[in-house]
Amino acid sequence: PQPNPEQTPTPDPATGAAVKAADRAHVFHSWSAQDLIDPLAVAGAEGSYFWDYDGNRYLDFTSGLVFTNIGYQHPEVVAAIQEQAAKMTTFAPAFAVEARSEAARLIAERTPGDLDKIFFTNAGADAVEHATRMARLHTGRPKVLSAYRSYHGGTQQAVNLTGDPRRWPSDSGSAGVVHFWAPFLYRSRFYAETEEQECARALEHLETTIAFEGPGTIAAVILETIPGTAGIMIPPPGYLAGVREICDRHGIVFILDEVMAGFGRTGEWFAADLSGVVPDLMTFAKGVNSGYVPLGGVAISPEIADTFATRPYPGGLTYSGHPLACGAAVATLDVMAREGIVENAKHLGETVLGPTLATFAERHPSVGEVRGTGMFWALELVKDRETREPLVPYNASAATNAPMAAFAAAAKKNGLWPFINMNRTHVVPPCNITEPELKEGLAALDAALTTADEFT
Ligand code: PMP
Repeated sequence: PQPNPEQTPTPDPATGAAVKAADRAHVFHSWSAQDLIDPLAVAGAEGSYFWDYDGNRYLDFTSGLVFTNIGYQHPEVVAAIQEQAAKMTTFAPAFAVEARSEAARLIAERTPGDLDKIFFTNAGADAVEHATRMARLHTGRPKVLSAYRSYHGGTQQAVNLTGDPRRWPSDSGSAGVVHFWAPFLYRSRFYAETEEQECARALEHLETTIAFEGPGTIAAVILETIPGTAGIMIPPPGYLAGVREICDRHGIVFILDEVMAGFGRTGEWFAADLSGVVPDLMTFAKGVNSGYVPLGGVAISPEIADTFATRPYPGGLTYSGHPLACGAAVATLDVMAREGIVENAKHLGETVLGPTLATFAERHPSVGEVRGTGMFWALELVKDRETREPLVPYNASAATNAPMAAFAAAAKKNGLWPFINMNRTHVVPPCNITEPELKEGLAALDAALTTADEFT
């Protein structure tokens, strides 16, 4: 990748080497075999780009971990964080504080339906922990139903709920979690050939699971509105409304996890807005302040909030509603509205990203399916389009993951930082990416896919 003299400071390999050496000596990285990783030392970031100490610049098609919805270092949000730090950096949660109450008011204004009370957490996983605790206390029931092909976070309850291999090493086995299959037509568990069949059969399967588990034992059903990490699978029309109806009929709390899909990612403020379905509890994090300061939360319906009107809610966090994080959220939501960032995600998704990815599916034999909305897309890479055999096996080892590694290396060589999960690349750029930047990244992706094609 070519350095951009306007955006990239003078290369400084010596500092890069020192940063890297200290990292390797002392930083214990998430989800990693510590001796097998080689993290890039990052020197800086701005907008849709970041760069290393050698002067290589990358267009970020990952938005960090799908959280920098307004790009890196947005000057107004950086300034607001500095102002908030000067005014009130921190304060304990039991007090009414301007940044906190203003953030809660703005979030409640945006969230679907009557989700008007906000419990603040530090991130997504603890939002999931608290949402499920609220549901259990509200219903007095022990179990939560969660989908295979899901990700809900790395803390104990959240990882138990997660439906991917990251659960296996830490699964406590009896955490009151039951998994079921949510719809995914491309790899249907229901032998469905149409969206209608997939929807009807997935709803029937959920209904049956509830009947056999005992409806009176189930506190909640939790779903990502659009499963993100597991592959950006947009549910068929009618599915979420169907789950809503089933939950209502059995007195089950419906939790939508919008940690990844929320705050503009889908071209709507929330993915739930695409279907008009209103959950009882909704978790959020990431895009609420683009991850500039850690923040997450649960938006709560009046019925569930009432459960704790005169009886204490038994849970909390030292940094719940941290003023610096909330100040960043207020500024982020303001910038998103003023700059039309949600509209930008929708517009460029419909006019550039979706149509261009569709042409990749025509030209590249490795592209099995393209799916998504807004700035939230996945390419399913396959060995064979007929059999749909994935380009690498489920939960591949370093050895069997070689085709995806080669594809990622080709993208990076072209100045594009790709999001890779199993046999998929997710195209999840910042929601305020410009059209020329998006086209530049898509050209690099197009070229890198010829490397993936070699493994078909
Ligand atoms: N839920 C979903 C849908 C997520 O995508 C994530 C993070 N990728 C989480 C929960 C967990 O969030 P965090 O990593 O902030 O704890």
